[in-house]
Amino acid sequence: MTCDVLIIGGGVGGLACAMTLASAHAKPWFKDRRILIIDDGMSDLGKARLCNAPGVPIGALGSDILAGMRAQALQYGVASLESDRVTTVSRSDERWTVTAASGRAWTAATLVLATGFKRWEIEGLACTPSPHPRGGKPDRIMLEHDGVYCVSEELRVAGLLGGGSSQFAIAAGAGAQTAVEILCVWAGKRTHIHDVPEPPEC
Ligand SMILES: Cc1cc2nc3c(=O)[nH]c(=O)nc-3n(C[C@H](O)[C@H](O)[C@H](O)COP(=O)(O)OP(=O)(O)OC[C@H]3O[C@@H](n4cnc5c(N)ncnc54)[C@H](O)[C@@H]3O)c2cc1C
Repeated sequence: MTCDVLIIGGGVGGLACAMTLASAHAKPWFKDRRILIIDDGMSDLGKARLCNAPGVPIGALGSDILAGMRAQALQYGVASLESDRVTTVSRSDERWTVTAASGRAWTAATLVLATGFKRWEIEGLACTPSPHPRGGKPDRIMLEHDGVYCVSEELRVAGLLGGGSSQFAIAAGAGAQTAVEILCVWAGKRTHIHDVPEPPEC
């Protein structure tokens, strides 16, 4: 299968990136683009109960929030999610080929790494992680980027792998910013995606 953006990691950062990208589906410049998330189900959020995440009901279970975020990302019909563990990435002819433990493979124009700040298991990428200065533990990792999560135009970072501290809002924000930067490339200008309420019926 081929897609336009392939997001490795469907935790907070990856899903925030996917839902922001997909929310632009009605823009003329979005065209018929497709987004694919590949995730192996080990988000840190699954262990959490949140009382300090903006907009999230007090005491909400992370597992419930993840389920809701998946639904948000998939609601527009332009994003899909596969359960698998990515093992290898390669690049040729200006496309990424992403291979998973199951043996399945996908190609994509743009790759977003949203694998969290604890694991680095994907072979074939030229970039390597560095120690995470805000990770709180010595084994936490991040990828260097340009300040808005761009390693190169075709390779982006989302979530805590971008170097932010371990808070839901920071991981989600990094995913949303990554998505907006990709949307700006597609739109050919600065953009963002806002919804407004329906006007009241007279
Ligand atoms: C116990 C606990 C409690 C917490 N409580 C709070 C709290 O109260 N308030 C708060 O704001 N924050 C809290 N957090 C922090 C919050 O959960 C994280 O900030 C957030 O989950 C980080 O998002 P992320 O996308 O960077 O990583 P994650 O959400 O961990 O997502 C990374 C995803 O990548 C996937 N992945 C990794 N490698 C691969 C691969 N090779 N192939 C496929 N998939 C892969 C993983 O399965 C995972 O789903 C808590 C965290 C923990 C652990």
